[in-house]
Amino acid sequence: MIRRYGARAWKNIHVTRKAHLADLIDVDNSSAGVQQPTGFAVLRQAAETFESLIQEARQQNIRLRALGSAWALTDIAVTDGWLINTKMLNGCFDLTDQYFEATYPEPKRPLLALAQCGISINELNIYLERGQNSPIRRAMKTSGIGAGQTVAGAFSGNTHGSAIQFGSTPDFVVGILDRQTLVESIGGNPTGLRGEVLDRRQRPAGQ
Ligand SMILES: Cc1cc2nc3c(=O)[nH]c(=O)nc-3n(C[C@H](O)[C@H](O)[C@H](O)COP(=O)(O)OP(=O)(O)OC[C@H]3O[C@@H](n4cnc5c(N)ncnc54)[C@H](O)[C@@H]3O)c2cc1C
Repeated sequence: MIRRYGARAWKNIHVTRKAHLADLIDVDNSSAGVQQPTGFAVLRQAAETFESLIQEARQQNIRLRALGSAWALTDIAVTDGWLINTKMLNGCFDLTDQYFEATYPEPKRPLLALAQCGISINELNIYLERGQNSPIRRAMKTSGIGAGQTVAGAFSGNTHGSAIQFGSTPDFVVGILDRQTLVESIGGNPTGLRGEVLDRRQRPAGQ
């Protein structure tokens, strides 16, 4: 569902940037209907919402920008158009074998989780440790000094420092399920994920 707050003044968390927005829009995983989405339907609902917001903004010739936790100190999350708050899109899933490329190493499969863009590093670490179906406890290899950043915000900004043996947050991203893939999969397969995953050629992740 979306919630619109209308035109307003806005500032990031550390008040290093200020802007006047044409609209501030929250997107979350709830539904107006009695039946709330579960499982991958949560992802497809968010994708549909973005699709309609993008179409609407195009028609009105308004620029959109996605917002995570607003922790970036620079103007990378700033707009005078519509700012879309994605922080409440915080679903996370473990994946069964059917979703992996045959070449994806079996021992590494339990290490992978499918996280929605707005989940915070903190929420993700809790999920990784407790798991859903995962037989093991997991954790991010590195974190920032705080843990409130969203995964999409953190890897968009290439944050959370690397060390000699491993890279920063973007290095942990195996693949990205984009909006179009999710929207196109709605009619085809209402219970599963279908379509292309944007992944690394040398390390294909899923189908
Ligand atoms: C207290 C504090 C501690 C920090 N510690 C560290 C640290 O130790 N190491 C470090 O490297 N950095 C650190 N940072 C910096 C911070 O991690 C980065 O600025 C990070 O990018 C912020 O993530 P965010 O979720 O707040 O993203 P935002 O600031 O909201 O957005 C960052 C960028 O991501 C884009 N974006 C956000 N969500 C989406 C989405 N759903 N889809 C597409 N694009 C999206 C935005 O448009 C913007 O371009 C810290 C910042 C603070 C305030």
